[in-house]
Amino acid sequence: MTARVLVVDDLLPNIKLLEARLGAEYFEVQSAMSGPQALAICAQGQIDIVLLDVMMPGMDGFEVCRRIKADPATAHLPVVMITSLDQHADRLRGLEAGADDFLGKPIDEIAVIARVKSLSRMKVALDELRNRRSIAAQMGASASLAAAIADSGEQGRILLVDDRDSSIDRVTSALRGRHTLDVERIPAQAMFRVAEHDYDLIAVSLNLQGFDGLRVCSQLRSLERTRHTPILMLAETDDRRKVLHGLELGASDYISRPIDRNELIARVRTQVRRRRYSEALRNDVQASIEMALVDPLTGLNNRRYLEMRLPTLLEEAARRGRPLALMALDIDRFKSVNDGYGHDSGDEVLRTFAQRVKNAVREGDLLCRLGGEEFVVLMPETDIDVAARIAERVRGAIEAELFAIEKGARSIPVTVSIGLAQAQGETEPEGLFRRADRALYRSKNDGRNRVTLDAA
Ligand code: GH3
Ligand code: MG
Ligand code: MG
Repeated sequence: MTARVLVVDDLLPNIKLLEARLGAEYFEVQSAMSGPQALAICAQGQIDIVLLDVMMPGMDGFEVCRRIKADPATAHLPVVMITSLDQHADRLRGLEAGADDFLGKPIDEIAVIARVKSLSRMKVALDELRNRRSIAAQMGASASLAAAIADSGEQGRILLVDDRDSSIDRVTSALRGRHTLDVERIPAQAMFRVAEHDYDLIAVSLNLQGFDGLRVCSQLRSLERTRHTPILMLAETDDRRKVLHGLELGASDYISRPIDRNELIARVRTQVRRRRYSEALRNDVQASIEMALVDPLTGLNNRRYLEMRLPTLLEEAARRGRPLALMALDIDRFKSVNDGYGHDSGDEVLRTFAQRVKNAVREGDLLCRLGGEEFVVLMPETDIDVAARIAERVRGAIEAELFAIEKGARSIPVTVSIGLAQAQGETEPEGLFRRADRALYRSKNDGRNRVTLDAA
């Protein structure tokens, strides 16, 4: 996987060094020598990851990071801050500014590659979600997504997999009051524990007694339920190899022992926020996919849904030699409702009509609004004679009671014409539609408010 990395540093040798390291791993590298220049490049939207020096004259790295994270157009860009190893306070300030990760100076070659790879993997996944979402919906951020962007990353539900009392105490006391923490001392039980709650983060010790913490990480990644749950590794300082391996396995972050309380709080918060953001994005994608298949006026499935579903149903019916009937419905003289009482009254009639048809057909029948005042009901496992009885029930339910309009102030009669056809072993929907339409046309011609069966 390749990614476009922006290296920001006021010293040219530092830029050259990172350019060489990243270039050797086939990352594309761009550089900026000041904060404002970096922001201008980020705004162009071509960058995947930012490596940001803290100490720069003029606008320092913290400020650059804050601005990247405050702008909705760039807030999703992962930012790695480069600090001197011993500058602990710098790390905390960076996390407060919204940094996603840190690298110490002098730059550790393996760490930089591992971090950039892991962050670009995450960005690719999030970009994909964002794309799908905008293709499906073409709309602004939903309320839940907006909330997730503004989320503080507090009050998460966290599972700690660790078997050492001192370590458990330290983590517990740091997170107490901020999050709900569950502790699992038996690594093999972790896979069962995650079924109990929807965890926002799982922290895994890499030095468990007689158990490989990396195994826990990789199992969590392979489990459907926790595939997207952030994993924070708790590592010994000299566990570098394990940490790199863990990041390759898909762990999200790590913290070295002895665990610094504030760093832990900040890293946990970042992961919880990120999780909530990507979950909201995923839910949005799901909701917009569903929305694209539902007619907003009646709440029924729309033509697109029918077109997706019908070929499968036809094929199934043909393969198993089972009947399948299609009912085409068209409201009679609907134009006169609009003309006589206004478009809103027409909409009221459409909503009530949809509800009545829905009540008159059976559970497994599939009712869709094709558009305007035209509907269809797909009836699996149903031959045309049974379908005719149901169609007659629908017709009667429409005619039997007046339709309330103008919010109940008035009511008017409505009738429907129906055409029926049965599938004949075909797998293409066109013929079935044509025959049902032909029957419907005959219902109209013969005086409306009636059911006609396709002759074939
Ligand atoms: P027929 O008995 O031959 O079916 O006559 P009709 O008036 O129902 O048929 P026609 O197809 O001429 O008119 C359908 C009308 O439905 C025209 C259009 O203004 C109206 N219509 C289509 N979609 C909507 C909608 O979403 N809301 C409302 N209120 N009216 C709609
Ligand atoms: Mg019509
Ligand atoms: Mg009509």
